Amino acid sequence: MAKIVVVGSINMDVVIRVPHIPIEGETIMARSVQYYGGGKGANQAIAMSRLGGDVHMIGRVGKDAHGQRLYDNLLENGTKTAGVEWDEDQPSGTAYIYVSDRGENNIVVFSGANSKVDVAQINRYEHLFDDAEYCLMQMEIPRETIEHTVQVCKQKGVKIILNPAPAQPLSDQILEGLYILIPNESELDLLCPGPGSLEEKSAKLYGSGVQNLIVTLGAKGSMLMNEAGVKYFPAVPVKPVDTTAAGDSFIGGLTIGLSNKMDLEAAIQYASLVAAITVSKMGAQASLPDLAAVEAYLAGK
Ligand code: ATP
Repeated sequence: MAKIVVVGSINMDVVIRVPHIPIEGETIMARSVQYYGGGKGANQAIAMSRLGGDVHMIGRVGKDAHGQRLYDNLLENGTKTAGVEWDEDQPSGTAYIYVSDRGENNIVVFSGANSKVDVAQINRYEHLFDDAEYCLMQMEIPRETIEHTVQVCKQKGVKIILNPAPAQPLSDQILEGLYILIPNESELDLLCPGPGSLEEKSAKLYGSGVQNLIVTLGAKGSMLMNEAGVKYFPAVPVKPVDTTAAGDSFIGGLTIGLSNKMDLEAAIQYASLVAAITVSKMGAQASLPDLAAVEAYLAGK
């Protein structure tokens, strides 16, 4: 099984249930407050670790109670944490998620320690890339860190998988030579603004030098564009219960498939299965399946 390095965010998701979303200046009482591990980097690392991957995280948490819980959460799920550092100044990254009785939500994200995952930290853990085959990144850490990591990976022959979320313009330095760029439909729209069909926008992005572009399309499945052309992969039909973390589990499943020597198309099919199991359960990290859950799902088919 190939080694995977994740360079990304680690957040505490604070879910605050409220009768209604408060307006400016209003004070209201919450119905409940719950804490969950989150952040795209940690979610994807945990998705892969639960599927048996050899996953090494480079990230940063605050020297606070949330930081300890987030660090322990990675370890308990089997992610290697030698590259996770504790920040003296910044609190742990936090997402405050207000959910109203009507099911509407408002989210406020504080990057905190994630904003300090810097070039120097990547250099301190450069050795982790020496025998890695894949590096998985998202966009919740500083862009210059991503650009630098891309260069380190290129020097060491590590294949880069980038999930451009949250979407922001990507420099040629990042795009050129990426092994896989994997946005969802709305991220694709933000990366290629203006008119154009899914395939036209994808072609524009693919033309910037990435080797494989995969666009996830929710319940419609996913699309792969590469030198062989365009191919669509249907979603695995399930009764959706909660689609939170569908994208993170798809990306985790894809990378694990590849690290287990599947070809790209087989890895996309595996990712679709893993994501479908995730959407059939409640929660974000809580719904990410382990190997036993994938086998149980297949046995029940
Ligand atoms: P999120 O932000 O909720 O984590 P996303 O927008 O990043 O998700 P999606 O494109 O919604 O990602 O979903 C990723 C993959 O998950 C899809 O390509 C598909 O394979 C699977 N998936 C999503 N929704 C469903 C569904 N309702 N039924 C089955 N599979 C689904």
